[in-house]
Amino acid sequence: MNFEIDHLGIAVRSLEEGLRFYRETLGLTSTGEETIEGERVRMAMLPVGNTFSTSRIELLEGTDRESVIAQFIEKRGPGLHHIALRVDSLTAALDRLKAQGCKLLNEPRIGAGGHTYVFVHPRSTGGVLLELIQK
Ligand code: ZN
Repeated sequence: MNFEIDHLGIAVRSLEEGLRFYRETLGLTSTGEETIEGERVRMAMLPVGNTFSTSRIELLEGTDRESVIAQFIEKRGPGLHHIALRVDSLTAALDRLKAQGCKLLNEPRIGAGGHTYVFVHPRSTGGVLLELIQK
């Protein structure tokens, strides 16, 4: 199975605040902002690197207090929220995880950019929320 880092999800209090560092201070370029109503988040994607399979920084802001991002910040403060790995076969990855008794947080869902994704509970990964994405 082939894995690549797709993105690092970072919880921020506001996109403007997050972009101030990643875009203005660090000099990355944002490919645009998007609100995902169903997930109660606003996000900005900033590609890192210029290779064929670019990784990205994903800034996440909760749109209201019920948002998982707002709740995460409430508990732990802003910072790294999840890592996302790209796999060539999500089905194969899920079969392997399920066989090992890992706790998945959702059934495969279609998210931003039309990619299918699943979240794996931090309890099964050594403390980091893991997102697996089918390319
Ligand atoms: Zn993500």
